[in-house]
Amino acid sequence: MNIIIVGPPGAGKGTQAKLICNEYNLTQLSTGDILRENYRQGTMLGKEAAKYWSVGGLVPDDIMINLIRQEMTKPVPGNGYIFDGFPRTVAQALSLRDIFDELTLPLTAVIVLDVDFDELIKRLSARRTCTKCGKTYHMMFNPPKVEGICDLDNEPLCQREDDKPAAIENRLKVFKEQTLPLEKFFEDEGKAQHVPGMLGINEVYAHIKNILDKCK
Ligand code: AMP
Repeated sequence: MNIIIVGPPGAGKGTQAKLICNEYNLTQLSTGDILRENYRQGTMLGKEAAKYWSVGGLVPDDIMINLIRQEMTKPVPGNGYIFDGFPRTVAQALSLRDIFDELTLPLTAVIVLDVDFDELIKRLSARRTCTKCGKTYHMMFNPPKVEGICDLDNEPLCQREDDKPAAIENRLKVFKEQTLPLEKFFEDEGKAQHVPGMLGINEVYAHIKNILDKCK
């Protein structure tokens, strides 16, 4: 089973990808998490990519395609991949299709999370992220038990650089220009399955599970 989850920033891709990953025993490839981990570790890739993500832009396609190609050559346990945050451009989608062909992997489904832009701004600006494990919280709707502290590991929460207002504005603009055409790309391929991302986490997941159970 190989699943792609697409949607604007703040749509809940990472949250849903984790749930899918656990239920269907998949390997989660979250490019945003990989880039942030590289940044924390001070790698060349991490430093280069931060120039783009810190201001809400996209990291160039060649860097991202190489990264995903490398990740997919590693042996992984489980029944397939869930891609969260990749592809984000049509060029990336075309390269991913080539990689799938080379590795003779099927693309099972593309889940498209639909969320209004006003809602995204509210979600992103109130999002706080654990500096260590990356778990995310919403200050109003999903706060941690102790303010400013992660429930899982007691580490401090912070606001991601790209969840600050100027970067949010740019991320949404970039999404409209570069990532939205992907939805049409996957619709034309007959793979896109739209899910109402405005619902609560469990309700969104129920929609996704309903779709994926039919693909098993
Ligand atoms: P995310 O955690 O998925 O919101 O990703 C955070 C940031 O990492 C994005 O705003 C981009 O700057 C960068 N990024 C992640 N995945 C990609 C990708 N597939 N292509 C280009 N940039 C990416």
